[in-house]
Amino acid sequence: MRILSSDERYLQRALELARNATAFASPNPTVGCVLVRDGAVLGEGAHFYDESDHAEIAALKQTASEGLSAANATAYVTLEPCAHYGRTGPCAAALVAAGVERCVVATVDPNPLVSGKGIGSLRDGGVTVDVVDAASPLALAARRLNDAFAFSIQHGRPFVTLKAAVSLDGYLAPPPLSRSVTHPHWLTGEAARADVQKLRHASDAILTGVGTILADDPCLTDRTELPRRKPLLRVILDSRLRTPPASALVKGAERDVLIIASRFAPEAVTEALESAGVEVLRVANSGGRADLPSVLKALQDRGVRNVLVEAGSTVNESFLASGLVDKVALYYSDVELGHGSVPFAGAIASPYALQQSLTHVTRETFPHAEGSTREDVKVSGYLHDPWDWPHTELRAPLIA
Ligand SMILES: [Zn+2]
Repeated sequence: MRILSSDERYLQRALELARNATAFASPNPTVGCVLVRDGAVLGEGAHFYDESDHAEIAALKQTASEGLSAANATAYVTLEPCAHYGRTGPCAAALVAAGVERCVVATVDPNPLVSGKGIGSLRDGGVTVDVVDAASPLALAARRLNDAFAFSIQHGRPFVTLKAAVSLDGYLAPPPLSRSVTHPHWLTGEAARADVQKLRHASDAILTGVGTILADDPCLTDRTELPRRKPLLRVILDSRLRTPPASALVKGAERDVLIIASRFAPEAVTEALESAGVEVLRVANSGGRADLPSVLKALQDRGVRNVLVEAGSTVNESFLASGLVDKVALYYSDVELGHGSVPFAGAIASPYALQQSLTHVTRETFPHAEGSTREDVKVSGYLHDPWDWPHTELRAPLIA
C-alpha cells in the first residue's frame, strides 16, 4: 500500500471531476482523471459520453494543449483504465505511450471479464500501479459513483433504487378518499424533496404505476435544473392503458415517456397515446401485472443503467416481492397518518422491517421547513451490493 496524503488530495480532485459528469457519462461509467508531476497539475479530465474521450484521454489532451508533456507524471484515476478497444483506443496503452510513470487507481473495473487487464497492461508497460485499499473511504466513494454501471454490467439489468416518502407510522399516503390532485399531500418538506430531485438527476429512468398517475397526476421530471445528456426517461406500468391523455405526464411528453402495457391493451388508446409522443411497449404479463424482469430488460436495451422507482403501494410490493430492488431510499416524515392509510408496499413489508435487511445504511436529516425544529429523516441502504462480486478470486490479487 503506497498511497500518500498527497495522493489522497489528487484522488479527491479526480472524484470531484467525475461527479461533475453525473448524468453525462451513462451508459458508460463516470470517471475522473488528474495528471500530476512534481506537485503540479498538468491536466484533468472526466468522461462525457457524447465527447467519446475517456477521462485519461481528456486529461492527456488537456496536458498537450498546454504545451506540456505527461512524461514521468502520475495519473490519478477513479476507475481502473480500460485495456480494450471500444469507441476509443485503450487508455492504459495511451498512458504508457505518454510516458506516465505511476498510476493511482481508486477502484478496479467492476466487469469481471476485463477487471485487472488495465492494471496488467500498465504494469507490462513499465508503469507503477498503486490500487487504493478497497476498504478505504476513497475506494468506497469511487465505487459509489458507479454503483449502477457495476451492477448492470454484471447482471444484465439496470440497478433499481426504490424511493418512498413515508409517515412516522410507515404509511405512504392518507386514505385515498381524503386526497385531492389539486392539493397534493406532501409528507416531507422542501429540503427532503430537493434531495429526491438529486436522485432523479443521477438516474436514467424513473418508474411508477398508473395508480400514481391517476391519484397524483405527477410530472416526474428532473427539476434540479442541472444539465443532463439525455432526458430522464419516465416509465409507467399501465397494463390496461388507463393513463389519461390529458395527464401532466402525457401532455409534457417529448419522446421521454414509455408506457408499459400488456398485449391486451386497446389499440385505439395506444394510437392516441403514441400520437401524443408517448412510446407504448407491450411486455409479457404475469398474474395480471407486467413481468418486471421483462420491463427491466427492455430498459437495459434502451441504455438505462439505473432506475428510480417512485411509485405506490402495489408497484413497491411487486418490486420488493420479485427481489428486484437493489437500493432503498426512505424519507420519514414526523407525521402519523393512522390506521387505514395507504401501506408502503402492500402486505409484505413496513419500511421499518425493510430497513432491517439493508446494508451500508446511511442516515441524513433535513429541516422540515425553514426555521422549524421538525425534521425529515432519510434512511438509505442496499439490498444488493453492486460491487459484491461472486468472483472474489479475480479481485483479490489486484489490491496492491
Ligand atoms: Zn478508457
